[in-house]
Amino acid sequence: MLFADYALELPAVGDRTPAVSVRWLGTAGFEIRHGDATLLIDPYLTRAPLARCALSTLAPDISAITRHVSRADAILVGHTHFDHVLDVPAIARLTRGIVFGSRSAARLCAVDGVPPAQIRDVEGLLRSGTYVETVGPFELRFFPSAHSKLILGRRVPWEGEIVDCDEVPVRMGGYRCGAVFGAEIRVAGRSIFHLGSAELVESSLPPREVDLLLFCAAGWQSTPRVVTRALSRLSPRAVLLSHWDDFFKPIERGTHALPGVQLPRLIDAFHAASRDLRVGVTPLLGEVML
Ligand SMILES: [Zn+2]
Repeated sequence: MLFADYALELPAVGDRTPAVSVRWLGTAGFEIRHGDATLLIDPYLTRAPLARCALSTLAPDISAITRHVSRADAILVGHTHFDHVLDVPAIARLTRGIVFGSRSAARLCAVDGVPPAQIRDVEGLLRSGTYVETVGPFELRFFPSAHSKLILGRRVPWEGEIVDCDEVPVRMGGYRCGAVFGAEIRVAGRSIFHLGSAELVESSLPPREVDLLLFCAAGWQSTPRVVTRALSRLSPRAVLLSHWDDFFKPIERGTHALPGVQLPRLIDAFHAASRDLRVGVTPLLGEVML
């Protein structure tokens, strides 16, 4: 498969300046920049090899992180599986960015030495009603969501929370899912919505029209009608697919698809639901401008 055939093409930004850039970091990870402000979502640069994931505890690769990430004013965590959260405490310590995530994400950060002033427990904050937070030019909204049932279409891998974690590093299975969130980022008049797993919870997500949907491809076949459900709730003008890459290989090895992700079929499903929708991919570290 040639990824260039599926590149997401967006209209030129033209005089709609200053622009917003969205850079794919691999897995469900993104860097969103506007001016000199930077927001990260689910950044996972370590990309530990499969054997290490299976056999030993996991630790962030600081050199891989600093090669690709230099700044973060905010760091959003959609859920706490290792391929979403492993690098977050280290990045928070390096950048002093504020971490937004579940109780599990908050616990993990606290255990790993992130100062309390840098940690927001979104789960707790949502209990007191709609939760909107502003960080620099970014306005953040969180919506309770769900994880796709990746295991035989029936079970979420590593369910449960990380609230009992009292030291790191832990093994892959110790990074239990925790509460799952969809996040909307509004910046400079644009709206970007991140779904870090191929599932959503309509009852927690009022309909909206977003400029760009960052959609997790991994597990999409396990979730009934996820494409039409996401489109009807979020009415995106464009869709950038994520989490289809083989994240057991380092970024420097190039962009390879996960076995079984069936990207062309997924893109066809989007076009079947909405013929003129712009939907596609970027290579690892590729960028689109809004
Ligand atoms: Zn996951």
